[in-house]
Amino acid sequence: MTWSPGEHMIEVRRTPAPGAARGAWRAFRETLRGMRTTFGRIPEGPVTVQYPEEKVPVYPRFRGRHKLHRFEDTGLEKCVGCSLCAAACPADCIRVVAAENTPANRVSAGERYAAVYEINLSRCIFCGYCELACPFDAITMGHDYELSDHDRSDLIFTKEMLLAEPLERTPLRAEDE
Ligand code: SF4
Ligand code: SF4
Repeated sequence: MTWSPGEHMIEVRRTPAPGAARGAWRAFRETLRGMRTTFGRIPEGPVTVQYPEEKVPVYPRFRGRHKLHRFEDTGLEKCVGCSLCAAACPADCIRVVAAENTPANRVSAGERYAAVYEINLSRCIFCGYCELACPFDAITMGHDYELSDHDRSDLIFTKEMLLAEPLERTPLRAEDE
């Protein structure tokens, strides 16, 4: 028997493949069903955020840029330069140099204060161990996440930077949102 491409095509058309057609239809139906389920889960409202004009809100427990704190009544720094946060830091990115308070120069409420307090945020993994290790709640993790810069050295945050209020605040979302 001789074979030619034309004959073969005719043969294919003549031979129906009901099983294959049914399988393809089933797959198509499943795809449609999947699309309906997927799109049904998308919440109503805008899904595109006009960043940076509009910031994505974070959850209250989000760990962002650190903050050092002062006592509200006296204005003294809460940090006493004990270095427990530096010891707890797995990324070794906190540097504390302590100095003695004197009657003429009282900086913190304890015997000592942090003459130098630096966090290298280019190494920080935002684990929150420093916050947990501090016995005086002197350091906490804030919510700000806009921390990119052009130079690595600019990501070493000094005590003055950490004590200052951030210029912009990151919006918060509710826990159940
Ligand atoms: S959040 Fe973690 S990695 Fe970052 S400074 Fe604190 S302890 Fe170190
Ligand atoms: S932030 Fe807390 S743990 Fe770290 S040096 Fe200051 S007082 Fe000690």
